Amino acid sequence: MPDVFADLVGQDEVVVELRRAAAAAAAVLRAAAADRAPALLAAGPASGDEPETVVAPGGPDASTGMTHAWIFTGPPGSGRSVAARAFAAALQCVHGTGCGECPGCHTTMGGTHADVRLVEPEGLSIGVNDMRALVLRAASTPSGGRWQVVVISDADRLTEAAGNALLKAIEEPPPRTVFLLCAPSTHPDDISVTIRSRCRVVPLRQPPAAAVAEVLVRRDGVAPDVARWAAAAAQGHVGRARRLARDPEARKRRDAVLAVPRRLTGVGAAFDAASALIEAAEAEAEASVSEADTTERTALERALGAGGTGRGAAGAMRGAAGQLKELEKRQKSRATRAQRDALDRALVDLAGFYRDALTMALRAPVDPVHTDTAALAGAGAQKWDAEGSLRRLEAVLACRAAIEANVKPRIAVEAMMLALWKG
Ligand SMILES: [Zn+2]
Repeated sequence: MPDVFADLVGQDEVVVELRRAAAAAAAVLRAAAADRAPALLAAGPASGDEPETVVAPGGPDASTGMTHAWIFTGPPGSGRSVAARAFAAALQCVHGTGCGECPGCHTTMGGTHADVRLVEPEGLSIGVNDMRALVLRAASTPSGGRWQVVVISDADRLTEAAGNALLKAIEEPPPRTVFLLCAPSTHPDDISVTIRSRCRVVPLRQPPAAAVAEVLVRRDGVAPDVARWAAAAAQGHVGRARRLARDPEARKRRDAVLAVPRRLTGVGAAFDAASALIEAAEAEAEASVSEADTTERTALERALGAGGTGRGAAGAMRGAAGQLKELEKRQKSRATRAQRDALDRALVDLAGFYRDALTMALRAPVDPVHTDTAALAGAGAQKWDAEGSLRRLEAVLACRAAIEANVKPRIAVEAMMLALWKG
């Protein structure tokens, strides 16, 4: 049985560091338990109260290899949240190792451990109310007797107020609470300087294609040649590689994106290509969120007593409109996020194509990102030369940056398509 770190692809040094910290954390708990034993005897079994949480001498600090706040950074798909969840499991593991077999490991990895809270923003940002509620719950005594672990998977999407609420908790941490933040980088745009200064940073790197292919074969049973192709095409993004290897729809969408350079034959074609790209992203996002939307709405309506005739039903309905409105707002925000993510994936694929053209024009000894469009990229390299290939690559990257900076996606994509056509 593989342990909890098995899915952390191509991050050997990080795994060593996290194992060491988990062992140190387990030692803190053992020391606390040893200190507590005499006190418990003195109090006697009749008191019935949970004993106060005992802080180990010195607390969980850096000198023991453990600390209470961490930031996992790395490019998308490198496994930031995988690393954070595996570490959370190792902290809850009854053996303190992340064995992968005990109830602590199982429930954490399955997302049901009572003392592990996973915050995955569905919309564009994590708001202050969510954060305050989270911080409050995180301060309670761990029910399993180990740690309260809070995993914030996109800490770069904290609103300023939410960031401040989190900072307060990190500055005065409850004795048994551990915060695990994930963000693309420690740049001040992603994470505030003050939060960063309180956390230990764990940088993940883009996993090599060979390591990604290996895990697809081992864990997902993908054929080796398909795994190698998907790993290269996904450019180090593990989840994306898995989707490409297993989902024909994902492959079809990628093919459509990589057909763009061929289709840019004039101004009209450039606008058509922009529309096609935007609409494909919308369709993909719609497919990914519609099922969750329906489930949530049904669940909320049931909870609000829709159709109920009991005495409670009328009272429950009074707040119903407000709650439904709130849900719709959240779902709309999530849909917008899903559209942006889908569009961004398409742009990354497109950037890979022009990168291939550039490396071919430079005769650089590197493997192409997209082996299946290598011939087309080669033709582009001849026609555009290195300079023209670079300008096109920059146009794609500028489009990503513009959308990230809240330019309307359609406007940014149209500008990009025109730049790709004109060169
Ligand atoms: Zn375990």
